[in-house]
Amino acid sequence: MMLRSFAGAAIVLAATMSVPCVASDQRLLVLEGAWVKWGAPKWSAGATVTYGFATTDVKSPTARNCATLRPLDGLEKQAGLADNRVRAEAAAAFAAWSKAANLTFIETPNAAQADILIGAQGNPKGRAFTNIELDSGPLASAPATERGLVAGAEPTEPPAKAHSVRTIRQALICLNPRAKWKIGFDGDLDVYDLRYTFMHEIGHAIGLDHPGAAGALMGFRYDEKLKGPTLSDGDAARKLYGPHAE
Ligand SMILES: [Zn+2]
Repeated sequence: MMLRSFAGAAIVLAATMSVPCVASDQRLLVLEGAWVKWGAPKWSAGATVTYGFATTDVKSPTARNCATLRPLDGLEKQAGLADNRVRAEAAAAFAAWSKAANLTFIETPNAAQADILIGAQGNPKGRAFTNIELDSGPLASAPATERGLVAGAEPTEPPAKAHSVRTIRQALICLNPRAKWKIGFDGDLDVYDLRYTFMHEIGHAIGLDHPGAAGALMGFRYDEKLKGPTLSDGDAARKLYGPHAE
């Protein structure tokens, strides 16, 4: 019941504040009327999640922007980045979330079986997206998961109400292979850093939403001020998974 009243409070805040709102519910994704997470559908319950990279084309017809996932080769070639460096950035991004909450990520070579599958978009669009499929029901596209919306283009969807916690079955993270990518920050906000992008999209893939434009890794605007999840990003992850276990 307490959570429901938080949901009500979040809506009031959203209606009356023009600054990014950090009410707790808005940091968590709500899909089909439920908060979503890996593992047990309970608050503060840790999870082990596998991830992999598409090795062949993977079709998910009900996904919006990740409907076709291709191997990252095209992105690597276009960006002039070696395969192992791109994967190392993804691994570092997963590690950042492991440190923030009770989440263990294991890379699997069997991409078809991966809980979180990463690839390049078959139909390049935007920069990066995350799609989440729940344990039952159709693939639910995470609201406003596009990275780096231009200033002012705030997601228009109102905070959704949730009444339960559901388990994620699979998440797809797709990157635009025609966009420019880089490793490391250099102040050029038109070219996104891969690790930052992976960290942000993984945040969606574990059940987090945008708390606002900036000031958090999960802010929807790309910037180069943060090197990892902030305290508030971590708090959201810990709400779902509990604290990092040593
Ligand atoms: Zn996002």
